Amino acid sequence: MDKELDWSHLSFGYIPTDYNVRCYYRDGKWGDIEVSQSETIDLHIAATCLHYGQEIFEGLKAFRGKDGKVRVFRLEENARRIIESAKGIMMAPVPVELFTEMVKKVVKLNERFVPPYGSGASLYIRPLEIGISAQVGVKPAKEYLFLILVSPVGPYFKEGFKPTNICIMREFDRVAPKGTGRWKVGGNYAASLEAGEKAHSLGYSAVLYLDPKEKKYLDECGPANFFAIKGGKYITPASESILPSITNKSLMQLARDMGIEVEARHIPIEELAEIDEAAACGTAAVASPVAEIDDLDTGVKYVISKDGNPGPVTTALYNRLRAIQLGEEPDVHGWNTIID
Ligand SMILES: *Cc1c(COP(=O)(O)O)cnc(C)c1O
Repeated sequence: MDKELDWSHLSFGYIPTDYNVRCYYRDGKWGDIEVSQSETIDLHIAATCLHYGQEIFEGLKAFRGKDGKVRVFRLEENARRIIESAKGIMMAPVPVELFTEMVKKVVKLNERFVPPYGSGASLYIRPLEIGISAQVGVKPAKEYLFLILVSPVGPYFKEGFKPTNICIMREFDRVAPKGTGRWKVGGNYAASLEAGEKAHSLGYSAVLYLDPKEKKYLDECGPANFFAIKGGKYITPASESILPSITNKSLMQLARDMGIEVEARHIPIEELAEIDEAAACGTAAVASPVAEIDDLDTGVKYVISKDGNPGPVTTALYNRLRAIQLGEEPDVHGWNTIID
């Protein structure tokens, strides 16, 4: 870094850092952690990740707190989730201890890229695993590469914490009913690109997917979970095609802490007419409030935010979670890992 980065104006893009960490699985076991300064990998042209999509990933963040300490949010939950993803597409699972050690190491090595407290920026941590065995037959690889790269990312909300419009379209499904939706598989993102680009071109920030089987219930909101506040309750879709968002899980806990009842269940589309607040949630934005939901096939428009502002419950939950990540409020649930 020759000159100081403009932390508050960083985008959610890739900025090179000093190091990444890697570990190979060969002969039935994980090897030693390797520290690399290279931004590329040397990959066999017949590697299974290239041909049959054996790729899974995670996304988490490190924050510089009010006290100057660096905190990684919900490290262990991410470690556990990538194990589920690995099992889902028959890859070698990365043990929780190895995942934890590698995250700590890569953050420590790149500590100068953890944005300062107050900038709104954070260090995005991207673990990924790929099948690397050379084989042309369709079967799981025998060898894997697990690597973690990091990149500083700017505050998600450039124009502040403001609601955006989302849309429902039945033309596309992100995943299949008993497919890979519940795992963090790269291919799910490929499958969502066309719908996402179409929504953007129509002026929407994301697609609110319906359950792929019956198209009756709400599913995910683009690459994020969806929740709504209805009559003082926190409601969020439950289905086997939804990726279990750690942000959603955390917000549900905070809602309970605040005395708000939580319901994870099927939510029929029509129920959108009765909700008071709505948001997409995930690591990138924590919560991204929704102004209006347009059903493009029926022409029905659900106006959620009547005054163009995020609702009070969404705002309170968002502020609470951010405060814990930044060490401004006590971490009563033990969600942060301090890097020292
Ligand atoms: C990563 C992801 C989320 C959000 O999960 P978090 O753990 O909250 O970041 C939601 N939906 C999909 C499809 C995802 O891949």
